[in-house]
Amino acid sequence: QCASYCSLFLEDKSCMSACEVVKHLEPFRLSLEKLKVVSTRLRKDMIRGLGKHTHHRAAVKMLPTFVRATPDGTEKGDFLALDLGGTNFRVLHVRVMEEEQKMVKMDSQLCAIPQEIMLGTGEQLFDHIAACLSEFLDSQNLKGQTLPMGFTFSFPCEQKEIDKSILIRWTKGFNCSGVEGEDVVKLLKEAIHRRGDYDISSVAMVNDTVGTMMSCGYRDQTCEIGMIIGTGTNACYMEEMKNVKRVEGEDGQMCINTEWGGFGDDGSLEDILTEFDKVVDRTSINPGVHTFEKMISGMYLGEIVRLVLMKLTEKKLLFKGEVSEALRTKETFETKFISMIEDGLENAKKILTELGLTWDLVDARVVRLVCETISSRSARLCAAALATIVDRIRVNRGLPHLKTTVGVDGTVYKKHPNYSDELQKAMHFLTPDCKIKFLVSEDGSGKGAAMVTAVAQRLALQSRL
Ligand code: BGC
Ligand code: MG
Repeated sequence: QCASYCSLFLEDKSCMSACEVVKHLEPFRLSLEKLKVVSTRLRKDMIRGLGKHTHHRAAVKMLPTFVRATPDGTEKGDFLALDLGGTNFRVLHVRVMEEEQKMVKMDSQLCAIPQEIMLGTGEQLFDHIAACLSEFLDSQNLKGQTLPMGFTFSFPCEQKEIDKSILIRWTKGFNCSGVEGEDVVKLLKEAIHRRGDYDISSVAMVNDTVGTMMSCGYRDQTCEIGMIIGTGTNACYMEEMKNVKRVEGEDGQMCINTEWGGFGDDGSLEDILTEFDKVVDRTSINPGVHTFEKMISGMYLGEIVRLVLMKLTEKKLLFKGEVSEALRTKETFETKFISMIEDGLENAKKILTELGLTWDLVDARVVRLVCETISSRSARLCAAALATIVDRIRVNRGLPHLKTTVGVDGTVYKKHPNYSDELQKAMHFLTPDCKIKFLVSEDGSGKGAAMVTAVAQRLALQSRL
């Protein structure tokens, strides 16, 4: 196998060093057979997460979302959407137009969330959100009306109802005190009451995966899976109510937020974790949790690459053994560098120079190989997890073949030059019985929240008739 990598290198370096590099990357290379094993493990964990008596201890939480239907195309109206999950908070005014089957963002506003708020108190966070919302309502002249509101809150929440949502834990760099274990809707309403300059009516709580599925679902009514591969990673899908043991009722379906990022938190992925994954976990703000996410998502991929580059340099396989100050510093190798480097060797050279490294052509190629290895592991692991969901839907319906659509969002999926190809190739092998269409969501976490609210309204109206 080593010989094939020799072609990557220049003649002036021996094949020996190529072999050495490959040896260090070997633990990241997961065979298709191994992916099948991972997929089988996730299948068992999903069943555990759905179970009435097993879900408390389940690593994969399988959270009921109280979203009971995907769009049917008859939804309409004006909605407010809030979106919190990354480095910004957004407020949107969305109009759903039945005649044209489309959702239009009428206007929106972005409020940065400074680091000190991300790591401050919950009260500060929700005051900040309420202030941003107030400014937006003023600018739109909407304070007199109370439009129905969807709140995309992209963290794991135990939902009791569509408008009652208890934060299980923060992820992705957020760590505000006094929010875990609390109802997010209540905290938002309290912050608005503290201000006293406006009020809100109902709030539908939405995970970003659900928003993504629902926004794609308006365009393509076969969309029944939502997936995010961005700062964090996660997926949701439509499950049969009879399998959702935690929620009363046997009929129909409910969207389940899998929170697959927590896969492996009980040690089930120990055999595929590398020494680098363990360092990433140990030095993160939430050690011991979201094991799967830390191998996959944008918050961590760059850091994994940096740690590997450090190791190869220590072994004198890169940069003549000389590490730069920047490379030595945590999180200086951004995940977007991976996409740029895989896009072309010229980018690699520029980035290495900016990181203060003295490189030669062989170094640049080795760095690209490291990036490819880490991003392709991420894509393949995602494929293994997605395959589990797709196959579960197929079995639920008792079908030999399934044709379905996955709504996707997230910078890693959208910005990386061949991530989606890699993911789809692996899917082809893992679920040969299913034909899967991938639909990139346009602003799923914004417009999707409006769509969740619109569908809830439609269902409420239908049940009253
Ligand atoms: C959160 C999920 C979210 C995902 C993508 C994860 O860290 O736990 O709720 O869907 O990130 O944003
Ligand atoms: Mg049930």
